[in-house]
Amino acid sequence: MSGAEVMVDVVVAGGGVAGLWTAAALRHAGYSVLVLEGRGGGGGGSGVPGQSIGAQGIIHGGMKYALTGEASAAARAIAGMPAAWEAALAGRSADGVDLRDGGGVRVLSPCTYLWTTPGVLSKLAGFAASRVLRTAVSGLDRGAWPAGLAGASKGISVYRVEEPVLAVDGVMAALHRQAGVVAAGRLGGEVVGEVDAARGEVVLRRADGGGGVGGAGGVVRAKQVLLLAGAGNVDAARALGAGGGNGQGLPAAQTRPLHMVMVRWPKGVSAPAEVFGHCVGPSNLPKLTITSATDSGGRRVMYLGGEVAEQGVKRDAAEQISAAKAVMAQCVPWVDVRGAEWGTCRWERAEAATKDGSRPDVPVLVEAGAGGGAGGLVVMGWPTKLAFAPRLAAMCGEHVRGRGVVPSGGAGAGGAEAARAALGLDVARAAPLPWEDGGVEWRAV
Ligand SMILES: Cc1cc2nc3c(=O)[nH]c(=O)nc-3n(C[C@H](O)[C@H](O)[C@H](O)COP(=O)(O)OP(=O)(O)OC[C@H]3O[C@@H](n4cnc5c(N)ncnc54)[C@H](O)[C@@H]3O)c2cc1C
Repeated sequence: MSGAEVMVDVVVAGGGVAGLWTAAALRHAGYSVLVLEGRGGGGGGSGVPGQSIGAQGIIHGGMKYALTGEASAAARAIAGMPAAWEAALAGRSADGVDLRDGGGVRVLSPCTYLWTTPGVLSKLAGFAASRVLRTAVSGLDRGAWPAGLAGASKGISVYRVEEPVLAVDGVMAALHRQAGVVAAGRLGGEVVGEVDAARGEVVLRRADGGGGVGGAGGVVRAKQVLLLAGAGNVDAARALGAGGGNGQGLPAAQTRPLHMVMVRWPKGVSAPAEVFGHCVGPSNLPKLTITSATDSGGRRVMYLGGEVAEQGVKRDAAEQISAAKAVMAQCVPWVDVRGAEWGTCRWERAEAATKDGSRPDVPVLVEAGAGGGAGGLVVMGWPTKLAFAPRLAAMCGEHVRGRGVVPSGGAGAGGAEAARAALGLDVARAAPLPWEDGGVEWRAV
């Protein structure tokens, strides 16, 4: 018996926030969508986990980018994102994405705070920039400081920034459900494919020729492929024949590494109040960005990013923990870390390349160079920030509609589920939060 041939409207490669939000929005618009998520597959993946679950969950509205005192293009572009997320959290997003799905996403903090180390007050004059942003930034009298900053000494300033912090595991779980069928398979690993230029479709099959309905190896045809696979985008494009085998003509991508630090307070050790926000020093990058959580064992965890994570890439875990302790002593000296345990984790932020290697200002969606210019049949995108996921999803939707791909009415999972079965793929499982990952080596230092 020969394998099944199943048609779907759209295949999305990548089950991070970009792929899942986009798939969810397309499903709401009536498209049948199969998501392929390559993590943990046996397809020789890069070993770099998807970034989304490692994000700090801050829904930026541009404040961080205004630290230079100017409202940069990035700041203006991201200003509408908190409102877009708020709409999705409340179930009234224009694209139909409803983050209330499955009980809702925890808002860990309705806002972030910005505080200074002594001697950088003048820097905050730059907050005139906030006038041209929609993000409200307001100075706080000491009595209004949050519990996590209450122990600070005099001589610092505290600001409230209207940028919420979300529980990223909840975001991913809600999007996973809304995205419909998320199959465990790497494009270029378990799943291979090629462009059928004559029909204007992409044809996908298993690399090993097996699996599939009836065990004979099925084929999936798609009218659109969206590569939203973060650091895996270029490899995924190559797997569809983009770049002519030598990489020529592929869109340029870049990665920027981070070495994040986690601190947790074991049971029996007095844990500090939660802290959410950025400690700013003299540079335009926060010295330290802290978000807080309670882990599955009921322990307080703080997750540390910012300058220390950028500069710590070359440090080993022990060196990075020492550096983070020193920065905490400067930025949050009132947080008692005696008895705490420390761990680190590494991530690659994946984006479209920029000339100087800096972060692009906006989400990017480009022709992937597959199929001899088959007119946008295969495109690749990067949101650049978690916060930009709704914007990139909207760009993908415009692209799909602009190509005249008509929704087959597959808002149910019918076609996509049949496609998963045809490829013989399991349903992808969610990745753990960094501090829930069994691979972390926790040290009491
Ligand atoms: C430590 C850290 C903290 C951050 N904090 C914030 C924050 O607070 N706020 C914010 O707005 N942004 C933040 N960001 C940025 C944000 O996380 C990213 O911009 C965003 O998550 C990117 O989403 P994505 O879906 O493009 O990529 P990813 O999350 O990397 O997802 C891509 C997925 O594609 C899969 N994949 C790869 N190759 C293939 C293939 N060939 N076939 C199928 N699947 C494949 C991968 O397994 C992965 O799951 C942070 C980033 C990092 C690293």
